[in-house]
Amino acid sequence: MLEFTVGPVMMDPEVKAVGAEDIPYFRTLEFGEMMKDNERLLKKFAYASEDTKVVFLTASGTGAMECAILNSFTSQDKVLVINGGSFGERWALLCKSHHIPYEEILLEHGQTLREKDLMPYEHQGFTALLIQGDETSTGVRYDLKMVSAFCKRNHLYYVVDAISSFLADPLEMANWGIDVLILSSQKGLSVPPGISVLLLSPKAQARAKEINTGVLYFNLPDYLLNMERGQTPFTPACGILKQIHVRLLMIEKEGGAEAEIERMADLALYFRTKLATAHLPLIPLAETPSNAVTSLKVMGHTKAHDLFDLVYKRFGIYLCPNGGNMKDTILRVGHIGHLEKKDYDLLIKDLGILNQEGIL
Ligand SMILES: *Cc1c(COP(=O)(O)O)cnc(C)c1O
Repeated sequence: MLEFTVGPVMMDPEVKAVGAEDIPYFRTLEFGEMMKDNERLLKKFAYASEDTKVVFLTASGTGAMECAILNSFTSQDKVLVINGGSFGERWALLCKSHHIPYEEILLEHGQTLREKDLMPYEHQGFTALLIQGDETSTGVRYDLKMVSAFCKRNHLYYVVDAISSFLADPLEMANWGIDVLILSSQKGLSVPPGISVLLLSPKAQARAKEINTGVLYFNLPDYLLNMERGQTPFTPACGILKQIHVRLLMIEKEGGAEAEIERMADLALYFRTKLATAHLPLIPLAETPSNAVTSLKVMGHTKAHDLFDLVYKRFGIYLCPNGGNMKDTILRVGHIGHLEKKDYDLLIKDLGILNQEGIL
């Protein structure tokens, strides 16, 4: 099997081996120590401040997004949402569900966010900004540093969903004044789905306590209290937390976040360069592409989702399809996970075969 998806993704053999082990009981000192080490490594790789706190939720990434909304905002807020695709739209849906007042900056699919797009929203009474690091549905990487300057000028609470961009694109949580950073196990982290992570600045910790949301499962102050001894309020996906630990230790040994980002950038560039010389009817979509994924406009004879089916059935290769109104037109090729250059050689070769047969 070969996957060019963006989550779940191909995993390192060491991470897979941990998946075959029994699951440890977790109310122990050893488990707590492992969790504290996970916290240390995630803070290090996100370039977070010393006083940042990390909580681990047993939920998919959307659960962590919802948890962030519940514990950060009330109907007194006015939130600015950057919506350039499915995940930006998810921020808007979450605000709507929880009756948080919001406005959206809507971007065309593939369009990046520029300073001029933010200008009309300067000093308009907003209290927060919600964005993705990489809008995974279109593969657009946003300039989080530029957005950070806007947030600082306007005193906005800054929430970044870095679920696919973590370890793929540069990220400096402390320098960029990010208050809540969201990660999930199955994307940039490249372990199985099941765990999502919130990194909380001191401001975010204080706000969660002040808001004191009435919910039980996504009660952040409860998670923060438990995490003081490396625990969670409820049974976590213990096995996945073990896999996260092994993966983070491997990254540390191999040169940390910078080395991992460089590896991913190199893979993305390799694929994009090779694609450009292959003359296939697949045209890059993103103005400012993330290293995590390349999104492609499918311009040939077969619709995007049909092509995904066909490539899987014929070659055993998973490309990454899209849903909604991008289903028939956009396909993606992921770069996160355990992939090598020779995997892209194979992909381009197989796509070339389809092209020659007049199918692509
Ligand atoms: C995958 C993803 C999510 C969350 O998806 P889940 O299916 O809930 O894990 C959120 N944001 C981004 C940017 C993503 O890529």
